[in-house]
Amino acid sequence: MKQKLKTSVIGSYPIPIDTLGLAQDYFSEQDSSWADYINQAVHDMTSAGINLVSDGQTRDPFIQLFTRKLKGCRIRERTEIVGPVEYHGPITVPDQIYARQLLPRNVGLVGVLTGPFTLTKSSIDSFYHGEKELAFDFAVALRAEAEHLLKHVDVISIDEPCFSNELPDYANELIGCITKGLSRPTRLHVCGDVSQSVPQLVDMPVDILSHEFKASPFLFDFFKEYPSERKICVGAVRSDDLRVESVEEIVAHVKKAMAIFGGNCIQIAPDCGQRLLPRNIAFLKLKNLAAAGEIINGR
Ligand SMILES: [Zn+2]
Repeated sequence: MKQKLKTSVIGSYPIPIDTLGLAQDYFSEQDSSWADYINQAVHDMTSAGINLVSDGQTRDPFIQLFTRKLKGCRIRERTEIVGPVEYHGPITVPDQIYARQLLPRNVGLVGVLTGPFTLTKSSIDSFYHGEKELAFDFAVALRAEAEHLLKHVDVISIDEPCFSNELPDYANELIGCITKGLSRPTRLHVCGDVSQSVPQLVDMPVDILSHEFKASPFLFDFFKEYPSERKICVGAVRSDDLRVESVEEIVAHVKKAMAIFGGNCIQIAPDCGQRLLPRNIAFLKLKNLAAAGEIINGR
């Protein structure tokens, strides 16, 4: 049977602005507001009709979300690396468990990991003095988190925005360190202009590649040159502007993607996380995305 196209999200969802400002003090164990924000994100995503949702990454900005709970990291304005980076115990797992019990049975959950290269590039290293070594220690820690996520999520997505600026020669090995042998499908999200990295990206050791095809539709031409077995998550609504794309516009965009990727086009999503959009705009974009998915699936 032909696989149905699924609608998904990349990760983050809007939360009230004061929460972002307070992020430094946002040790949420004492603060139950994070649960309200997960409720809100999951409620919006499911009522929009999205098939594969996230917890909204509500607890912390996407770097501190991980570095706050890893050994060797100290949080100031940025994360400072002050010792060996090691896994200390579940990071996002409690939020995934919480999100999962809010979901209807037919809705899946994406567990999102901020990628090791992006964590490395976003930290001030006062310990390793070698980017590659730090990146691999982050990867080992993220692998441990991925193993804990397996029984709670349907897809594990690695969010590596920094790969769009620089794809290190060890990128493939680094991502493989997290994904090798995992029993869930894995997705690599790299937003930005990845046109020069397409030959390397199509060889990445993941099941699904996720890129911002809506803001950067020229990427279609680059991917066309490098046929691959990788499945594709097509960015189909923008995350960086307020205009809500119509259902017809999204359908036309996805059909263009399907003409290039054929049956490998298995997910459609916003171009990136939606954190910076107003909540009502984020919701309307998801709603139209879901409606477009239904039309394409022939319902
Ligand atoms: Zn992104």
